[in-house]
Amino acid sequence: MTPPLILTAAVVGSRPMRDQHPGVPYTPAEIANAAIACYHAGAAIAHIHVRDPASGRPSSRLDYFAEVLERIRAAGEMLVNLTTSGLDITTGDLTARRLEVVGLRPDLCSLDVGSLNFRDRVFANPPDFGEKAAAAMAAAGVKPEIEVFDVGHIAQAEHLLRRGLIAPPPLFQLCMGVPWGIPATPENLIFMHSKLPAGAIWSVLGVGRAQLPMITMGILLGGHVRVGFEDNLYLRQGELAASNADFVRQAAGLAAQLQRPLATPAQARALLDGSLIPGG
Ligand code: ZN
Repeated sequence: MTPPLILTAAVVGSRPMRDQHPGVPYTPAEIANAAIACYHAGAAIAHIHVRDPASGRPSSRLDYFAEVLERIRAAGEMLVNLTTSGLDITTGDLTARRLEVVGLRPDLCSLDVGSLNFRDRVFANPPDFGEKAAAAMAAAGVKPEIEVFDVGHIAQAEHLLRRGLIAPPPLFQLCMGVPWGIPATPENLIFMHSKLPAGAIWSVLGVGRAQLPMITMGILLGGHVRVGFEDNLYLRQGELAASNADFVRQAAGLAAQLQRPLATPAQARALLDGSLIPGG
């Protein structure tokens, strides 16, 4: 049996700025409201970065993350996934600072297991970051969402799984088409999918124009999907989405056409903790 489809809304990320889209949320309230609108459109999970409200630059301020978390939780059952990418953190104990958000005890946190050239910078995730992140999340009862940008990252995650650092079932986010991770082609997604460990739960995102084809494949292959401004601003060629919720409605419509029901937040929670096993 194919599980109900978990829709994740990644409403801001670290990249798009208001010169690219005037609706990019910057303040904690704007970010939370964007996520809540996605919840009402069918998303079960919000993936959250925070920004400096004045400049829009990526921020790691814990009080911003806490405010977004609190606002989303006050609005309903939506699960919250806080990023640990820490893109603005350049001084001090980088690992400790990146993992501060785990202490807020969101439902999930992103866990990056491999390094890569990411657009114009290096996204550095040394081996000990993955180990410490997995341990911190396990101690806090936070589910890691393992972000993989290429096939070697899956192998590195398996290394953590074999050592018992990540509790089953592991959750993977297959990040397709990030420059310069694995390109977002159908062949590559099928290959990435084929390399996942048995019993893994997985979601897929596609960057830019790859969003729609990648999520379509994710729905067909029995995975879950992520959409939103972090990955893409265009609903179709030349047409900016009015809001993040537009992408959720687009994905929900596609899922309906393909006869894949959406997971409620309660179902998403049960799938992620292993208590709802499709076909089991
Ligand atoms: Zn992110």
